[in-house]
Amino acid sequence: MQSPLSKNRVFRFAPSPNGLLHLGHALSAILNRDMAAACGGRFLLRIEDIDPTRSRPEFEAAIYRDLAWLGLDWETPVRRQSEHVAFYGEALERLKAMGVIYPGFLSRGEVKARVEAHEAAGGVWPRDPDGAPLYPAEERVLDRGEALAAIAAGRQHAWRLDMDKARALVPGPLDWSEAGEGPRGETGTVAAEPERWGDVILSRPDAPASYHLAVVLDDAAQGITDVVRGQDLFQATAVHRLLQSLLGLPAPAYTHHGLVPGPDGRKLSKSNEDTGIAAYRERGASPADIRALLAGYGFILH
Ligand code: GLU
Repeated sequence: MQSPLSKNRVFRFAPSPNGLLHLGHALSAILNRDMAAACGGRFLLRIEDIDPTRSRPEFEAAIYRDLAWLGLDWETPVRRQSEHVAFYGEALERLKAMGVIYPGFLSRGEVKARVEAHEAAGGVWPRDPDGAPLYPAEERVLDRGEALAAIAAGRQHAWRLDMDKARALVPGPLDWSEAGEGPRGETGTVAAEPERWGDVILSRPDAPASYHLAVVLDDAAQGITDVVRGQDLFQATAVHRLLQSLLGLPAPAYTHHGLVPGPDGRKLSKSNEDTGIAAYRERGASPADIRALLAGYGFILH
């Protein structure tokens, strides 16, 4: 446990450049910077551009512009995930050697078709905390020879974590320290239930590492002691704790903050340009107005 006043604490804001930052991102970034400043710790910015199909240079440029306008500064050089592909690949090889990952050959569309057929017949398909259907366990390719032959024959695949095996390799309780709270008020020591996510993807043909894999490796590589982020990632922390345990990485302390509501009461989205930080700026708002807006939603900023 970090002492609250430790100067050695390291915070990070880690946006993905796949859209414009909105008020929720402003909140995360400001909270991270404020918490770092309050204890004399460090504040890092990380660009999570591991998915080349969704990341765009113009969104990365907009991140720097919006954060600077908010009055934030961060250490340079900024870590960009796209520059560390080999690093993630090494971890994937380690997990392969541990026998906890397998190539999943069913595409998302094929899984969807199965789910639809199953549900049309009145069945209930298990879903993860985000509502996505779990990968069918009977499609786990456990035979190494069979897997290698299919890969050699050029079959498209995503590397998936065999959740049962992975969980069995990590004995004892898996939990994390939560200084914020989850959607149901969970706080303090929270029990991690990664099995609710099923066999998560760790690498795909179009993205060398998944968010889950890259985020835990980067947090460790950058010595992050405190992860402060939105409650939408609260449940994902269970997967992160499992990967940290498997890979022998330290566990940061977590603070999940509430989400800024969108104008229609729904979740803010990067694709809604009206609620983007840039849109507020263009309409004449000042950084102080953004803070006041966030304070108006009940978020305590310093
Ligand atoms: N890159 C993630 C996102 O933009 C956030 C990662 C994190 O804070 O753990 O949603």
